[in-house]
Amino acid sequence: MMHDTTTTKSNVGKGIVIAGLQKSFHALKVFNSVDLVIEPGQFVCLLGPSGCGKTTLLRCLAGLAKPDGGRIEIAGKVVFEGPPNLFVPPERRGLGMVFQQYALWPHMTVAKNISYPLERHGIAATDRERCIRDITKLVGIEALTARYPAQISGGQQQRVALARALVNEPPVLLLDEPLSNLDASLRAQLRRELRQLHERLGMTTVLVTHDQEEAAAVADVVVVMLNGAILQTGPYEQIMASPRNGFVAKFVGYDNLMPVTNIRHEHGRTFAMARDGSEIRLERQTEISDSPMVIALRGDALRLHRIGNVRPANAISARVKRITSLGHSREFELDSGGFDIVVRMRIAEAPAVVTGDDLYVEIPAQSPLVPAD
Ligand code: ATP
Repeated sequence: MMHDTTTTKSNVGKGIVIAGLQKSFHALKVFNSVDLVIEPGQFVCLLGPSGCGKTTLLRCLAGLAKPDGGRIEIAGKVVFEGPPNLFVPPERRGLGMVFQQYALWPHMTVAKNISYPLERHGIAATDRERCIRDITKLVGIEALTARYPAQISGGQQQRVALARALVNEPPVLLLDEPLSNLDASLRAQLRRELRQLHERLGMTTVLVTHDQEEAAAVADVVVVMLNGAILQTGPYEQIMASPRNGFVAKFVGYDNLMPVTNIRHEHGRTFAMARDGSEIRLERQTEISDSPMVIALRGDALRLHRIGNVRPANAISARVKRITSLGHSREFELDSGGFDIVVRMRIAEAPAVVTGDDLYVEIPAQSPLVPAD
């Protein structure tokens, strides 16, 4: 149990192995064969659009959904294998879980909510008190232990749910969009706290999210999912640098997938033609696939230039369709040879232009060139 809040990585557990996992709901096949290895102590984010199977995968890990086949090993113990079925129920998997609805017991105080898992494990009252003191201090709610859930804020309820999930020092913590009900600034703060808790306690953590910013902020490894399949796994920066295809690129934050043709390599660089006929030079030599290729571009990495005597290198021409104020920055929607491109620039750097103006959009030479899908 949690006796010493200053202890670092006191409960490093073993990781998770998922092999050939299958799951259907009647006629709907959610996943066909999922393989994933999560190293001990890693913070992994399952990232993907609504309905791609993230929650179902997490529920299979938790034992709240029963797979049809495959194998799951958690902290060195096989918890599912089938067929024939070996199925360890949730309460015997030794996991901590926090789901979207915090599901605190409304008729119990904060202390009682957190104490409950300890009571179920037959921990003596004096030890329980010490554990509750330690964990509430760790998540910053030690002053709230006598209150009921209805008497604390959403962010505080979230911390109580975390404390309850962590009080047994589980080797694995499962989180299903636990911050989605909170406002943006509180979400950012709790995200940082979650990462710090993870570093301090050292458990293996799996977080489901559809928010790429959240994944970028907390995860050691991001798992990008689509239609029940894992498309790419790796540190966020690595996926950003080399997304496997347009879908992954879009999901990790590239706003624009600009179609290009006439792709060729020369002296270790790649050259391609944009829709408006401009030639784009890219630093890296990317493998050219038979399928359509796109250059992935972040709106905030693009620069606009007024049409003048000198055309900037690596630029496409475009016409302004719409300008939207985003507070400190402006968003420009432009048309370039029939392709809609979005550019975001800080107000101080943005050129003074109006709808209908013709401009150049400078394309960064480090941008990834990827198959569209
Ligand atoms: P979200 O981000 O919206 O929560 P998700 O990626 O977590 O989505 P899942 O909840 O895992 O997606 O759902 C995957 C697919 O399985 C969806 O098509 C969903 O409608 C379906 N599904 C999930 N649970 C059930 C269920 N109990 N019965 C039938 N179909 C289900």
